[in-house]
Amino acid sequence: MEKIKISKGFTPKLAGMPDTSLIKLPPPHTIGLSAMDIPHIRPKLLVKENDRVKTGTPLFCDKRDISIQYVSPGTGSIKKIRFGERRKLQEIVIALDKSDKSAKSEAFIQFDPVSRSTLKSLSKQELILQLKQGGLWQCLRQFPAKDTADSSHIPAMIIVSLNGNDIFSPHPGILIGREKAAFEFGLEMLKLFSNRIVVTARQSSLPELESVKAHITHQVTDTYPAWDPGVVLFHLKKSMEENTAWCITAEHLVMMGKFLLTGRYPIEKIVTITKKGDKKPHILTRQGAPIKTIAGSFHREGMITTGRFNGRIADIEDHLGLFENTLNIIDNAGEEELFGFIKPGTDKTSVSRAFLSCLSNSPKQEDCTLHGEERACINCSYCENICPNDLMPNFIMKALHSDEIENALEYGLLDCCRCGLCSYTCPSKIELAKILSHGMDSHYKDKA
Ligand code: SF4
Ligand code: SF4
Repeated sequence: MEKIKISKGFTPKLAGMPDTSLIKLPPPHTIGLSAMDIPHIRPKLLVKENDRVKTGTPLFCDKRDISIQYVSPGTGSIKKIRFGERRKLQEIVIALDKSDKSAKSEAFIQFDPVSRSTLKSLSKQELILQLKQGGLWQCLRQFPAKDTADSSHIPAMIIVSLNGNDIFSPHPGILIGREKAAFEFGLEMLKLFSNRIVVTARQSSLPELESVKAHITHQVTDTYPAWDPGVVLFHLKKSMEENTAWCITAEHLVMMGKFLLTGRYPIEKIVTITKKGDKKPHILTRQGAPIKTIAGSFHREGMITTGRFNGRIADIEDHLGLFENTLNIIDNAGEEELFGFIKPGTDKTSVSRAFLSCLSNSPKQEDCTLHGEERACINCSYCENICPNDLMPNFIMKALHSDEIENALEYGLLDCCRCGLCSYTCPSKIELAKILSHGMDSHYKDKA
């Protein structure tokens, strides 16, 4: 097992680390298929309100390749189709019926199961088609824009990340402890697409991953975001071809493996919830579960995000997306802090060593307060000193603001893994990660 060390990044001392027990929630009344967490998609609706659907029925597809389908994670009827600004599809809500809750076979769209021996005899085209129709091909993402993998492309490597994207993502030991066979079958399947499969795990997760240790090729440090596939690729790549590598999380690889082994769309999901003063267990729930049932009681003035540094801000009425498996419930700080600037800051979570909190290792609570408004860049270089991929986010931002996309690309825009650390550290409150992410997406859209 090789080690990947990153010299930058950040290890925040945040309270709320979930414990490693697992509880199962009762089935919800509704589930949703969200389009809000799917990058680059141009959805085309395939159903209307009140239609009856089974688990695995296609609900929308991607207009850019209509064979890539997004399927219902449950059986019931379409209760609501929610649209956002300019009628952009947000999510499809399904009211579950009794046959879903009893998990009867008639509640599923059934595909032909694939065994280890048939996997070898199946043509690549047949396998790709089954995964696209089954709603799981999109779990494979392609660099640099992390779009759905191009099935006609042969990637130089596929990175399998066991640790998700967030510092509080579900522990891979819990998932793999339950689904080892599906995980290993998924790895076998990936070998049909690339000659190089890189499997990464955080150092702290390794003791619970003993049963799959032989498959782990690279160990990464616990500094955020060393386990992000974008950071792994940046530190491993040696040739131009590797810029279009693919990546997948362990959760999605298990879903693909389970789907192929059983011929049915997998409906379970493990999520973590982090909340002030509450050490929660891991939660076993449904794909597309309603956020309000898993988040529990929540102060309306607070905020729910699907990642500490890079997730979306979710509405309490939303449902979990395919790519989301962690919810952070962050309180509103309430009253403005009086004379906060002269306090020693023993309870502050900050990268800066100007606060006394840097001397203590005890976990700190976060709140939604920004402690000031956006100001002009002061060239402090904090963002450069924290970027795990050695970028200069301030220079890239300035190039993007002046519409000098070539300069932004020269500064390494496409190597940004959207970890969000630069925004977190910026004393001028500049949303650097958002600006870079938008710049990358616009460039990608223009090129497509
Ligand atoms: S530029 Fe910002 S978001 Fe991008 S990798 Fe660097 S720190 Fe992360
Ligand atoms: S951290 Fe913010 S203020 Fe400092 S150089 Fe970067 S963008 Fe400018």
